[in-house]
Amino acid sequence: MIPKSHPRYESLRTRDLIVEGIKKGITSTHGLIAHGRGEAFDYLLGEKTTDFAKKSIEAASALLLLAKYPVISVNGNVAALVPKELIQLSNLLSCPLEVNIFNTSKNREIKIKNYLLKYGAKNVLLPDKKYKIKFLKSNRKYVNPNGIFKADVVFVPLEDGNRTGALIKNGKKVIAIDLNPLSRTAQKATITIVDNITRAMSLLIKTIAKYKKYNKSKLKKIIINYNNKSNLKNSLKYILQNLS
Ligand code: ATP
Repeated sequence: MIPKSHPRYESLRTRDLIVEGIKKGITSTHGLIAHGRGEAFDYLLGEKTTDFAKKSIEAASALLLLAKYPVISVNGNVAALVPKELIQLSNLLSCPLEVNIFNTSKNREIKIKNYLLKYGAKNVLLPDKKYKIKFLKSNRKYVNPNGIFKADVVFVPLEDGNRTGALIKNGKKVIAIDLNPLSRTAQKATITIVDNITRAMSLLIKTIAKYKKYNKSKLKKIIINYNNKSNLKNSLKYILQNLS
């Protein structure tokens, strides 16, 4: 048990969630390394949500509300870190959660599904070998016909660059959360939220709940006024300022 007074309480609590995820069989051991890379960038960002990340969260909220068929893609790290928030988001948008993991294992896919169902998820889809997206060689190309296959906007918190690029080439808009503004995912996504998923998810949910009252033209304006490339540049500048 980590005492709340510990100066690195939040970071250690998050590490514990990933370790617990591995013990439960929902997170892969590779997820530890991915988490470590995220931690390093979070340190450089001052471990807080920047104004740039808030702008991306606003644009992402607008895009998710304007989407005809949004889908939330879930991997082992995401399921371990923010299961309740994933379900809140899918309820708010009335959209499915779809399991898609890097180190493919049917057993782990089912464990993630059951874990989310246990937390109250209503609609959790698994990949179906009869359906795939183009431009991707790995097993991650397999998708569910009622999920990513027909989605126009895919929310892929913590993703690898290959799949993000393939989803974009398949004509989908992609929203990613990634602490590393230099990753291929961050560079390729339609909207990149450079923040820790443990902080960004609750703000995203709050913003969507607020924007639900907005009309379509107001939501469209938020997207038009947003520029992902300059937002990424500003995130990098912020890191450089912190370093100097
Ligand atoms: P890419 O293929 O996009 O270049 P990568 O190979 O660096 O990415 P992966 O190992 O596939 O990345 O995924 C880990 C990514 O997730 C890293 O970019 C890391 O910064 C990010 N990440 C890890 N933990 C978190 C977290 N808690 N919140 C947000 N981002 C995170």
